[in-house]
This record gives sequence, C-alpha cells and structure tokens, in this order.
Amino acid sequence: MTETRKKVLVVDDDEMLRDLAADILSAEFEVQTARDGQEGWEKAQAWRPDLVVTDLMMPRMHGYELCGLLKGPDGIPGVKIIVSSSKTFTTDVAQARDAGADDYLVKPYMPAEMLKRVRGLFGLGGAATAPAPEPEMSITGRGAAPDPEELRARPAGEGRLPVYVRFWGTRGSCPTSNAKVAGYGGNTACVELRVGDTPIIFDCGTGLRELGDSLIAEFAGKPLQAHIFVGHTHWDHIQGFPFFTPFYNPKNKFNIFSVHGAHGSLGRIFTQSMSLDYFPIPLASLGAKLGFVEMKGPVDLGVAKISFQHLNHPGVCIGFRVETQGKVVTYLSDHEPFSKLGGVSDLSLRQDAEIAAFARGSDMVIREAQYTEAEYATRKGWGHATYDDAAKFALESGVKRMAITHHDPYHTDAMLDENIAYCRGLIRQGGGKTDCFGAREGMCIDI
Ligand SMILES: [Zn+2]
Ligand SMILES: [Zn+2]
Repeated sequence: MTETRKKVLVVDDDEMLRDLAADILSAEFEVQTARDGQEGWEKAQAWRPDLVVTDLMMPRMHGYELCGLLKGPDGIPGVKIIVSSSKTFTTDVAQARDAGADDYLVKPYMPAEMLKRVRGLFGLGGAATAPAPEPEMSITGRGAAPDPEELRARPAGEGRLPVYVRFWGTRGSCPTSNAKVAGYGGNTACVELRVGDTPIIFDCGTGLRELGDSLIAEFAGKPLQAHIFVGHTHWDHIQGFPFFTPFYNPKNKFNIFSVHGAHGSLGRIFTQSMSLDYFPIPLASLGAKLGFVEMKGPVDLGVAKISFQHLNHPGVCIGFRVETQGKVVTYLSDHEPFSKLGGVSDLSLRQDAEIAAFARGSDMVIREAQYTEAEYATRKGWGHATYDDAAKFALESGVKRMAITHHDPYHTDAMLDENIAYCRGLIRQGGGKTDCFGAREGMCIDI
C-alpha cells in the first residue's frame, strides 16, 4: 500500500544548493525546483506543494516576499515553509518567521538535518521546531508600477554625457556632529550620481536634505525629475527623506527604487516612516509625484542601466551597479562578508566571489568599511565590514577606484585618515592597483 507522497518545492538561485536539496528530499518526497522567488511563486500556484523550501536572497523576488505571498490571502492554504539561508543574523530568522516561515535552516547544512526538519513539519518523526505564529496581516500594496515614460525621461542624446559622483552623506548608523568629524562629515548615507542633468540618488540618509537644497538652486524653478535608489530602509538610509524639499513641489517627479520589504511593500515602509507618530506631514501630502518601484531585475532609465545584488546585512539589503555612458559605478552599502560572518566554506567563498563579480569592471565602487579588525571582534553580526575586508574586495574585484564610506560615528577624522591609509597599504601589499580613498561630504569626482 503506497501513500501519496508529499510535494516539496525547492526555491534557490544557487544551482548547486538547489540540486543538493532536491537530491536529499526526492528519496522520500515528490520534488520540483524553481530558480528564484518569482518562478517559485508561479510554480507553487500551479503545482500546490505541501512544503516550500526557499532561499532568502534571490534575483527578481526574494524569499520574504515569497513567504508573504504563499501565506497571504491568495496563497496556498496549509502550505508549510522552510527558509534555508546562509544569513545567520537573528533579525533574519525573526523576519522570516514574521513573513510566514515555519522553520529556518542555516546553510550549509547536513543532509540529515534537512530531512529531519522536513519530516518534522510533516509529522513523520524527527523533531520539528515550534511553529511560527500566523502572519498578522496579509501583504498588500505592490508599489506603483513603473511608468516607462518617466523611466526614460531623459534620452541619452548625442555623444557622451558628463558623469560625476558627489557625496552628501558619508556617515553610517547615526548622524554625528563635532569638530573632530567635520572633515569627513556627519550626515548619513546619501550619494548623487549625475548623468548630464539627470540625478540618480543612492540612499536617503540625512545628507539628502542638502542635496535637495542644491537641486532646487540649480534647477531654479524648472521641473525636477530624479531617480532614487534605496539599498535598504534602516534609519541611517532614510532619515533625510522627509527633509528633501523637492518632494514638496507638485511640478517635480520622482521614482523610488528598491525591492519588496521583509514585511510589506516598499511604498508601505515609506508611508509608515512618515506616519504622524514620526513626522507631522504624511507621505500622501507631499506635492510631488512619487512612484515606488519594486525592482525585479535591471532597470533601464534611458541614460543609465541599473542592476541590483543582495548583500549580507540584517533584513533585506541590496547594492546597485550603474552602467552609463560607457562607465560603471557600483554602490555597495551595508555588507558583512559571508566568509567573515559564517566562516570560510565553499558556499561563503562563492557568495563573496559573487559580490566581487558584481562590481568587476567598475570605474568606481562606493562601498562600506566601518570597523577595524579590533572593533569587529565585538561587532560581529552587526552587518558591516572592516578595512581589511574592503582591501580584500579591491584585490578580488580589481576595480579602478574605491571610495570607502559609511564611516563609524565614533571615528574621528584622524582615525579615518589612519584607517584609510591602512586599507590603501593592504591593497598595495597585495599587488592591487585600486585607488582607494575615504569619501568626504561634499567631495565631487568626475567619472
Ligand atoms: Zn547603514
Ligand atoms: Zn543597515
């Protein structure tokens, strides 16, 4: 007598791990696979699996969003979910459970452990972990669909447009202000990449306020359109948002790009950040036309093409690669190397190599380094890198120039000078040619 075999859908963008999980599970279960969250969601709707084993960081659709959809009102009733990720941040375990995961299995894992977890969830023996609470609310609101006209607002035109990078906020974690940090600046993450007269903005830390003032002065009453890319929505990357004065002018238009949040849509995160408990003016009252775009792949702005890559930081965090006018600029903040956090393994080395490959060929990489190795000893798992990590990255990726940013609020100008010189020294010792420097507020560099 044979029982119907349970159906398990394995969703992972890493081919090797996807095949491994499928091999382990197919001995006892019927298994299908999908290459990312989007394909996983499509297959789940058609095949109605009993269990979905999903990775977190994947192109097109990440694992949190897939969990939300599977357990949402249009999801698969009764489906179980195991999130399997190399992310070991406690935040991610908690967020995965909030999103609907029944269990969380850290990669790399032993085959027996995977089988035990799956059998446990199906009540087939083997200890299951405690079930996660049902998600409190369904995921609603998918962000405004991109308006192709707006994305192509400024055609490239004849010849090559001038490209420059300007730093408006170079501090990480928390804004700071005193005479000892004035050289590198105290505003949090905000970088402007200018292609002709099109501003492309990375992150909305407190530096965004002065960028807004500068754009208003420059555009002198003419309508302003800009594209804003947000790597993640921790405070130091969004606190300048309500203070960006161009948002208050009805003539202006902005698209805000990122990916779906761990707990809901991108638009909802920004709406909540400006709810009356936090700010006197709600987002809906801003005069300018704002579109929230959840990226599923590269975005073509006409003057520039922007792709994204998941980084290793608590929650959802992505980096951006911009290809424009024959040049490449990459923005990677915040990120703790996989092999640094989880230890050296085939998997972690492959993941680190993927980040280096994402930046390869860049004329400039803007990336974080927040700690010395001594400081890192007590800050492991906070989602940030050291100067040694940045130097290693420069040697691996071979990028032309590397701006170190997201400076620790406790680092004075003197400490930063020393730390950056140390990083430069490591690159030289390793035979690298990358020109490494510390990003300072106000610094403007032609690309
Ligand atoms: Zn940060
Ligand atoms: Zn962060």
